[in-house]
Amino acid sequence: MSSSEIREAFLAFFESKGHQRVDSSSLVPANDPTLLFTNAGMVQFKDCFLGTEKRNYTRATSSQRCVRAGGKHNDLENVGYTARHHTFFEMLGNFSFGDYFKKEAIQFAWEFLTEVLKLPKEKLWVTVHDDDKESEAIWFNEIKIDQTRFSRLGDKDNFWAMGDTGPCGPCSEIFYDHGEEVAGGPPGSPEEDGDRYIEIWNLVFMQFNRSKDGSMAPLPRPSVDTGMGLERIAAVMQHVHNNYQIDLFDNLIRYIADIIEVKSLTNQSLRVIADHIRSCSFLILDGVMPGNEGRAYVLRRIIRRAIRHGNKLGVQGSFFHRLVEGLVQQMGDAYPELRQKQSIISETLLREEEQFARTLEQGMKILEQDIAHLEGSEIQGETLFKLYDTYGFPIDLTADIAREKGLTVDLAGFDVCMEEQKRRGREENQFITDYNESLNLNEQTEFLGYQQIEGQAVVQQLIVE
Ligand code: ATP
Ligand code: MG
Ligand code: MG
Ligand code: MG
Repeated sequence: MSSSEIREAFLAFFESKGHQRVDSSSLVPANDPTLLFTNAGMVQFKDCFLGTEKRNYTRATSSQRCVRAGGKHNDLENVGYTARHHTFFEMLGNFSFGDYFKKEAIQFAWEFLTEVLKLPKEKLWVTVHDDDKESEAIWFNEIKIDQTRFSRLGDKDNFWAMGDTGPCGPCSEIFYDHGEEVAGGPPGSPEEDGDRYIEIWNLVFMQFNRSKDGSMAPLPRPSVDTGMGLERIAAVMQHVHNNYQIDLFDNLIRYIADIIEVKSLTNQSLRVIADHIRSCSFLILDGVMPGNEGRAYVLRRIIRRAIRHGNKLGVQGSFFHRLVEGLVQQMGDAYPELRQKQSIISETLLREEEQFARTLEQGMKILEQDIAHLEGSEIQGETLFKLYDTYGFPIDLTADIAREKGLTVDLAGFDVCMEEQKRRGREENQFITDYNESLNLNEQTEFLGYQQIEGQAVVQQLIVE
């Protein structure tokens, strides 16, 4: 089954169970300052769970575009290292707003996996929250799950929350066993971190609303929120053990490999770039522009990371913006907006590439020299700060390079340099204010001194602050 066929089969299945098909919402959550990006299908329904918004349906299904590159759910560091994480992915979901609860949610999921997708039951592994005896009883008595493929886990694994505040509750998850040839152990075991047992579907039983002070109030009516990663279930259905080998990624990676002239299709940097072109294009599509703060800075960081991986593969000149075309070929049918905004997206990426190209090479040289003379295995705060301040290397980019070389970074030392920079900035601003006042300049006069220093991201950031 192709990714598109799986998406359609899922939505059609839940429609047949009385769910309203709802379009994906934007990656920028509407009116929700608590959240950086839409990180799950439930985000657009948050107020339905809280009971403050009523819709004319109580069951919904969607395929939601998600980004997990900051905030509570951040997978940026996982990309390139696991078979299952992306910064951008699609989450298939079914939702009940005070309609059905645990029993139906579990039955629907099991029916879809074993009867529609026809997955063998012995390949599936189930987890529940260790306090949730109700779900456990449903799995044993209704579904008749094999007890040897079942784990009870604590809050860390089986309590889901959208963010630090908002709807949350215990969950039950379904894993797929990719087989002995893949390293890794079952959920809850010490070897769990491998890629053998892949979590495919999370069924969240929404029962609470967490407030800022950490207290949890019961929701007006218990609800259901589920999420299944399209790319993960596609890997299962297409008999590949890595998300980056599914149809959509395979085609995209071939397109990219062709442009940047890389032979090995399993190259790690190639996968990172394929991941990043998706998140960057969709973020721009949803109105985020690269910049120095908040969402804009997350986007800039992802773009720069992609460019650095291109540089690592020996790319000369700008390339990242050219990949948008390859993405449109893969995803333009599912997301026609992508095709409409293709030129804005690639122009935005090109501008960023040109800006970063000026400092990337130099910064890399400095870093390589530093690493060559390193005593110990930690890159010092001063180096991190210099790269950040003068060469526009976001801290996570340098950390990414360090990790590839088996090194760590001195984040505390970086923070000290940052504080020192801010203090100097404040003093200087004070001096300028005093100076302007002494000259009796009128208030409209704008100080442009910092902006005239070339290519320094942090300088602009100081101005913003
Ligand atoms: P993992 O433990 O593998 O990081 P998760 O527990 O963080 O996943 P959930 O928050 O439960 O994931 O999200 C629901 C589903 O969304 C997951 O079961 C998975 O199928 C999918 N998913 C989550 N994160 C990613 C990601 N970064 N890339 C692709 N799919 C993802
Ligand atoms: Mg995760
Ligand atoms: Mg998990
Ligand atoms: Mg999960």
